[in-house]
Amino acid sequence: MLPTKAYAVQNETSPLAPFEFHRRAVGDNDILIEILYCGVCHSDIHQARGEWGNSIFPMVPGHEIVGRVAKVGAQVTSFKVDDLAGVGCLVDSCRSCSSCKAGEEQYCQKHISFTYNGTEQDQKTPTQGGYSSQVVVDQKYALQVSKSLDLKAVAPLLCAGITTYSPLKHWKVGPKSRIAILGLGGLGHMGVKFGKAFGAHVTVISTSKSKEADAKRLGADAFLVSTEADAVQKAAESFDLILDTVSAEHDLNSVLSMIKLDGTLVLVGVPPKAPEIHPFSLIPRRRSIAGSMIGGIKETQEMLDFCAENGIVSDIEMIAMKDINTAYARMIKGDVRYRFVIDLKTL
Ligand code: NAP
Ligand code: ZN
Ligand code: ZN
Repeated sequence: MLPTKAYAVQNETSPLAPFEFHRRAVGDNDILIEILYCGVCHSDIHQARGEWGNSIFPMVPGHEIVGRVAKVGAQVTSFKVDDLAGVGCLVDSCRSCSSCKAGEEQYCQKHISFTYNGTEQDQKTPTQGGYSSQVVVDQKYALQVSKSLDLKAVAPLLCAGITTYSPLKHWKVGPKSRIAILGLGGLGHMGVKFGKAFGAHVTVISTSKSKEADAKRLGADAFLVSTEADAVQKAAESFDLILDTVSAEHDLNSVLSMIKLDGTLVLVGVPPKAPEIHPFSLIPRRRSIAGSMIGGIKETQEMLDFCAENGIVSDIEMIAMKDINTAYARMIKGDVRYRFVIDLKTL
């Protein structure tokens, strides 16, 4: 067992504070990663604060992990000591259901082991995330990370990156697509980058007028303020797809009004309260609503390789571990441009 330093919440109202626990010893197929950087996802906040009703405490959040391989097990062939490696939102799955066999472990039908706030395949041992000094992970669930990109800015690709890349690929977004990204936060700004990289016409729909210049700098073709009724009306029936990355309650009926005949609203944001949708927001234009969860290991690797080839990384603000509670408060106010990344040297 490996003594590990971390920051954890003890319950849904306690702040993040120093915590020590043990990682498992490195097994034959495991690698030990010395964590260098970890991104801060809004899912960390939802779960640390018990907003999804499924929290296991104490909880060490963090699922945008990059670091250096410090040790490899006897059977490990994919990594060697000193390689860079990444860990995203999942660290294991049943490996035998049809989703796992298809390389879509995020949709495992038996038991998915989330990186934190989850359990190992024994369905008992809690998992703990990347606000920590090290992690032990099976080589099959670890990602290869290119040395050519700024490692700090690669960390958010492990969740914000794949969560936006996967649905844009699945719904075949390309040069003929007119899409909108709703919410310009960690996920949203990556959605803009991928939408443009795939050749689409991209509009950012935001509550923050102050983000317009950033949206354009990130590559967006247009910007629309969702609280301005005129602007929403002007955009009626104009998008093939809207990717909703919003973390808080908002009106989906007005969002749906901007989707074309046969278009799709893809939900990736998970506000604590369930939305209300009127059937007439869908019926007269045969619109669809869908959801999408992160991506499988194969697609996450494909996304990381795509980013290395195209020079895509996240826009980040570095923080020290002790400043994590302030970072959470700022994210809740929408005050992050566009991802906080923890420097684990400060742990
Ligand atoms: P984030 O960086 O905090 O960004 C969320 C954005 O939502 C904000 O920047 C803001 O954009 C907008 N927003 C916030 N409050 C709002 C409100 N009251 N009304 C309208 N818009 C509001 O969060 P994130 O890390 O990108 O995560 C976004 C959501 O995706 C979270 O719910 C997270 O749990 C979820 N998520 C899902 C998956 C998945 O697999 N499906 C994976 C990762 C995260 P503007 O200022 O532009 O309005
Ligand atoms: Zn996340
Ligand atoms: Zn499975």
